[in-house]
Amino acid sequence: MEKIKLGISTCLLGEPVRYDGGHKLDRFLKDTLGQYVEYVPVCPEVECGLGTPRESMHLEGETGALRLVTSRTKMDLTDRMLSWSNKRVRELEAEELCGFIFKSNSPSSGMERVRVLDPKGVPHKTGVGIFAGVFMHHFPLIPVEDEGRLHDVSLRENFIERLFAFQRWRQTLTPGRKTVRLE
Ligand code: SF4
Repeated sequence: MEKIKLGISTCLLGEPVRYDGGHKLDRFLKDTLGQYVEYVPVCPEVECGLGTPRESMHLEGETGALRLVTSRTKMDLTDRMLSWSNKRVRELEAEELCGFIFKSNSPSSGMERVRVLDPKGVPHKTGVGIFAGVFMHHFPLIPVEDEGRLHDVSLRENFIERLFAFQRWRQTLTPGRKTVRLE
């Protein structure tokens, strides 16, 4: 049976790609949902060449013109991340993803309510991670969630239903392909 393909932030699968060399393994995503789907891991910060470990970073600036900046040395990585993200989403077209699970609160991977520092250094939960923003703009119909929201059972069920609905919609565009069942 053909498995549903999902993009996922690499650290959620337990890979040590975080800025501090750690990970954010999510057991439900890896061990339970992972039995039924095929993951396509994406770590924007490592894949754009920043390496591990690396300096931590955050978003700052105004909505619509957010900058990705390293926390200690204030290096502006926005253009580098944007350029890589635009290239990566074009590559991901070939994967035919039916969804993406993002790491919450990340300045690169967070899909909503990411911390942004305003010009006075005051944090606001109003940002979207740079890669996540490019992904959602490029694939506006693909269901997305973050691992934090998926701890809520009703949100989780809703997301899984949306994955299957999206897979079926893809299949109507590609006659002759098989479906997968979660039972
Ligand atoms: S949150 Fe995103 S950029 Fe940060 S380690 Fe995880 S996958 Fe990489």
